[in-house]
Amino acid sequence: MFESLSDRLTGALKDLRGKGRLSDSDIDATAREIRLALLEADVALPVVRAFIAKIKERAKGAEVSGALNPAQQVVKIVNEELVGILGGETRRLRLAKTPPTVVMLAGLQGSGKTTLAGKLAKWLQAQGHTPLLVACDLQRPGAVQQLQIVGERAGVSVFAPHPGTSVGGGDNELGVSASDPVEVAREGVAEARSKQYDVVIVDTAGRLGIDEELMAQAAGIRDAVQPDETLFVLDAMIGQDAVSTAEAFREGVGFTGVVLTKLDGDARGGAALSVREVTGEPILFASTGEKLEDFDVFHPDRMASRILG
Ligand code: GDP
Repeated sequence: MFESLSDRLTGALKDLRGKGRLSDSDIDATAREIRLALLEADVALPVVRAFIAKIKERAKGAEVSGALNPAQQVVKIVNEELVGILGGETRRLRLAKTPPTVVMLAGLQGSGKTTLAGKLAKWLQAQGHTPLLVACDLQRPGAVQQLQIVGERAGVSVFAPHPGTSVGGGDNELGVSASDPVEVAREGVAEARSKQYDVVIVDTAGRLGIDEELMAQAAGIRDAVQPDETLFVLDAMIGQDAVSTAEAFREGVGFTGVVLTKLDGDARGGAALSVREVTGEPILFASTGEKLEDFDVFHPDRMASRILG
């Protein structure tokens, strides 16, 4: 990811090298190149516009300082603004004052929620937490089992309804309807409370596209478990659709943070660069592969440095 954007940006900035002083037209020409590079990388138009306006304003107003030549100064400005649109500071996962912390995952089917549930659980466990995974994706066949496999790999417990049982079904030891994800979520949190798990990760159902039933279900789970964090899981490969998907989830369910997945892919990076600005919510984590280890806290400054090469 970002290879092409990275090449284009470094190319645009390279043209400034060796110039003793930058005229307004030098800056305008560079800004034009940067604009094209961002648009080509599928960064959302309003984000590109605001970004370019800031770069121009800052570059034209920049005092020539002793330490940096004009070209380096522009690179510094671009870097700082990139860090800014990526969220500025690293935003840590917020833990509840009184455990358990409830983390709900929402996003489209295939965005990587179930995989992320395992990654997050493993990551939390490495820091001394005792996470419990709760399987509330009762829509997709095999999703519950997939979470159980992920849980097993991560070495964490999974709370799931028994298949084929209904409300009050006698042989379901959890007493949970296999068809009611809201009830599973509620029971899962109660289980965590009684067995002293300190973080509950609630995996929810996703669809291939936005649909009202999905949103209503996720909102129902949210109301039932009152999450401390609702993480919107966004596949960075979906390109320009990322913005409308994020907005639909923001309106339908609401979220407190974003997790970018599939950053190892060859997408152009626009989703990653747009989502923070468009939704106003921070990116907390980045997922970079199918394995449980391919996961880390998201650092805006490191991502910006990677983009600028
Ligand atoms: P869900 O439907 O949202 O629960 O998505 P899954 O967790 O089942 O993931 C969908 C597919 O994407 C699976 O094949 C995962 O192995 C894959 N996947 C998840 N995260 C990543 C990632 O960060 N990088 C890559 N390359 N694949 C991923």
